[in-house]
Amino acid sequence: MQKYNYIITGMGASGLMLVNRLISDSFFDQKKILLIDKEIKNQNDRTWCFWEKDNGEWDQIVTRKWDHIYFGSEGYSKKIEITPYRYKMIRSSDFYNLIIQKIKENPNITVVTERLNSLKEIDNFVEVKTDQNTYVGEKVFNSIVLNDAYKNQTQFPVLNQHFVGWFVKTKQDVFDPKTATFMDFTVTQKGNTRFMYVLPTSKKEALLEYTLFSEKLLPEHEYEEEIKNYLANKGITEYDIIEKEKGCIPMTVYSFDKSNSKNILHIGTAGGWTKPSTGYTFYISSKKVKQLTRFLKTKNDLSQFQKRTRFWFYDLLFLDVLYKENGIGSQLFSILFKKNDARKILKFLDEETSFVEEIKITTSLPKQRFLKALWRRVF
Ligand SMILES: Cc1cc2nc3c(=O)[nH]c(=O)nc-3n(C[C@H](O)[C@H](O)[C@H](O)COP(=O)(O)OP(=O)(O)OC[C@H]3O[C@@H](n4cnc5c(N)ncnc54)[C@H](O)[C@@H]3O)c2cc1C
Repeated sequence: MQKYNYIITGMGASGLMLVNRLISDSFFDQKKILLIDKEIKNQNDRTWCFWEKDNGEWDQIVTRKWDHIYFGSEGYSKKIEITPYRYKMIRSSDFYNLIIQKIKENPNITVVTERLNSLKEIDNFVEVKTDQNTYVGEKVFNSIVLNDAYKNQTQFPVLNQHFVGWFVKTKQDVFDPKTATFMDFTVTQKGNTRFMYVLPTSKKEALLEYTLFSEKLLPEHEYEEEIKNYLANKGITEYDIIEKEKGCIPMTVYSFDKSNSKNILHIGTAGGWTKPSTGYTFYISSKKVKQLTRFLKTKNDLSQFQKRTRFWFYDLLFLDVLYKENGIGSQLFSILFKKNDARKILKFLDEETSFVEEIKITTSLPKQRFLKALWRRVF
């Protein structure tokens, strides 16, 4: 059996962010690290967007930054300046290539293309079984969702952020490349929370994503029809589809971290690093990985890493309300954006607000619905 100090299972966003941090910190130079993934990715299989203040760690691979976002709905629409925040876009192919190149330059890191079958903590080690080998790690960081436990429980609602995206190129200048449409709820809601993202990279090119926060997925052609309709409603009929992407991100406060142990830490979506109320994961993972590398320098018990905060409870109430009445998302987000400074909302979603700021934001929402949800949870 081959032994490693650290084994990272899954070479997607969180696994590669973690190895990137380990590479850039000399504290970990002597660690023998194994990376396992069923495939080595170099294609653009997803586009990550996130906001952060000013410049950031991923700027060298950021495709596009926006200082303005647009929020649209029947009752409230506004183009909003968000500086010092910027909304940023990264193509996953650039991210994979950047980190995989760094991995190649580090002889202490081994990569294998194998399918993970199981993880088992035995005494002070973790046994990692793949379809081809068995490895032993002192610490294992797993970003692969290994089972459907979160779907099969009933304690917490599970919604999905599901979407299909088209990169389109138009003949005419039709997009405003200075503004990212953060949420446009003017699409027909059909009893759900449905909106469009529009992320223009030039006057002629944009990524449009038809997105739902709802329980059940749609047949693929329905998302595509909605993108076509949206473009047609804007008078855009002449365009080529350059690329397509699709995704389904779980939105739940289910405690993914309850299966963390002394030597196994679940990371990324598999570790509950997805923000339950929005589905955003990229920037949170980036922050968590920084905390994790600091943690590894002083502490040994990985089950102590993840801590539940009051934001977990806000997310719980929000999802309880949205699960019960899936059609009111447009109304809730409109109120949020109408009554609060957009920067405060971004700060709140980043879980960086003070308690006083949170009171202001949460009480701007329809009180009765949230008090009822609170009542149901408490009693
Ligand atoms: C199309 C798309 C767009 C998204 N856009 C955004 C966005 O704009 N902003 C944002 O914040 N979040 C976004 N997300 C959500 C989230 O950021 C991504 O899903 C992100 O990739 C999650 O990182 P992760 O490390 O948890 O999982 P992944 O990046 O999915 O990595 C998991 C890895 O495990 C590997 N794997 C899976 N099963 C096995 C197995 N049995 N054996 C071996 N390897 C295995 C996979 O090949 C993969 O490389 C998006 C998601 C998708 C799908």
